[in-house]
Amino acid sequence: MEIALEEARIATEEGEVPVGAVSVMGDEIIARGHNLRESLNDPAAHAEMIVIRESAMRLGRWRLNDITLYVTIEPCAMCAGAIVLARIPRIVFGAKDPKGGGCGSVFQIVHEPRLNHRVEILAGIKDAECSMVLKDFFEERRNVFHSPNHLPQRGKVNMSLS
Ligand SMILES: [Zn+2]
Repeated sequence: MEIALEEARIATEEGEVPVGAVSVMGDEIIARGHNLRESLNDPAAHAEMIVIRESAMRLGRWRLNDITLYVTIEPCAMCAGAIVLARIPRIVFGAKDPKGGGCGSVFQIVHEPRLNHRVEILAGIKDAECSMVLKDFFEERRNVFHSPNHLPQRGKVNMSLS
């Protein structure tokens, strides 16, 4: 989860909503990544999607039935669906997402009895830190927009916290 948090912090520096993920097989990291929705202009470029795709590419197979996926925030409905499709047996996440979580908070995709795949969930790991990274990001962004020096502009605002 430390590595997923590191990825979330990299996302912050890039002006992306800070969500990080990492996939692990045994003791080995297969892939790590973070949300890239802004940089790729891709609504589906969530941290989990990036890591699931890269894991499959690295392992040379779509069936990821031997990896554990760590993610800082509860996966959304799309990512939970991809987790099921990739046959990932176990996910570990930090903070719950009461606004869009697909693993129990809003939707229950990974335990849907009509699907033939079940995912073991471990939730609440470093949840305070995981949600703090997000909270800091949105607070910083609000400050940028409310600052008297802020001029309205098109495109990306530099939201680096450094
Ligand atoms: Zn997602």
